[in-house]
Amino acid sequence: MKIDAKTLEMIRALSDAPGASGFEEEVVAAARKYVEGIGEIKEDFLHNLYIYRSENTGGKPVIMLDAHADEVGFIVQAIKPNGTLRFLTLGGWNKNAMVSSKVLVRNAKGEYVPGIIASKPVHHMSAAEKANPSLEVSDMVIDVGAVSAQDAVENYHLRIGEPVVPATKFAYDEAHGVMFGKAFDCRIGCAVILEVLRRMQGKMLSCDVAAVLSAQEEIGTRGCRVTVNRVAPDIAVVLEGCPADDTFAEPYFIQTALKKGPMLRHIDVSAICAPRYQRWALELAREKGIPVQEAVRSGGGNNASVFQTSLLGAPSIVVGVPVRYAHSCNCMTTAQDFEASVQLVCALLENITPEMIAAL
Ligand SMILES: [Zn+2]
Repeated sequence: MKIDAKTLEMIRALSDAPGASGFEEEVVAAARKYVEGIGEIKEDFLHNLYIYRSENTGGKPVIMLDAHADEVGFIVQAIKPNGTLRFLTLGGWNKNAMVSSKVLVRNAKGEYVPGIIASKPVHHMSAAEKANPSLEVSDMVIDVGAVSAQDAVENYHLRIGEPVVPATKFAYDEAHGVMFGKAFDCRIGCAVILEVLRRMQGKMLSCDVAAVLSAQEEIGTRGCRVTVNRVAPDIAVVLEGCPADDTFAEPYFIQTALKKGPMLRHIDVSAICAPRYQRWALELAREKGIPVQEAVRSGGGNNASVFQTSLLGAPSIVVGVPVRYAHSCNCMTTAQDFEASVQLVCALLENITPEMIAAL
């Protein structure tokens, strides 16, 4: 599928930017390049990035668009005598999908050192270990090729407390419209927001719009707990890169497939998405001919819950761009679903009115 070259470059820059939870600066720097002239930009100490449209008047109800800028990653916990690194996970990883992934470890100079998530090679396993090869994160190390702790510190400039991210680089299979990369949860959501702001530039709306790329979602929606106070929205749209289920669920139970449009969840573990708002958004998508999927999820959770339970409570829904293998080093998403998500969020902005909000 043909996708605008500038848009594709934006998605690439956002996906490739290292930004484990708590270390979002480089994602914010990448995003800032695409919001020139859109409106007023603010950033707080957590590196939540706020974008207020120039067309805002200040007197209208506020719609907040949220996507989180952080990605699941790791943090260096200790340097072992042999030069390998013990680490902790930042966010929810499937430990079976970690070993032998290439990663980048930030060092004391702010450079990224290549490494591998390693476990004991099969040649050195006992019969018992071979029979039950299940691993804990504490059985794994990150190996950058150092030969001792001294080598790791003096020659690699490694130190504890530094973030680690997958070394995956973005790639686009244009013939099939499939994007490969890391951190589509939620950089593809960030990209949807930036694209929506660009397309809506100059258009007058019946509500003011505050768009926020929030920090630290993956470790407990922490950034959003701050942004919601600053913006005090009347209604919220939460963008997500949400886990696709179409490669392992029973056909009747597939609720988040690639190339079927954004997924709107009725519930997840953290929130019941505002039911009347959710039904209204699904109906709007159908009216506009935008493909959309709906789900009832027994897992997951995100910033939507924060909007509903902070301040006086703002109704929220989640627009999720399907991502296969989210929370792993190699994810997939599609240009088609990105485009449908952009169209749906534009339609939401054009159709949410103060009257509609009052009636929720
Ligand atoms: Zn997410």
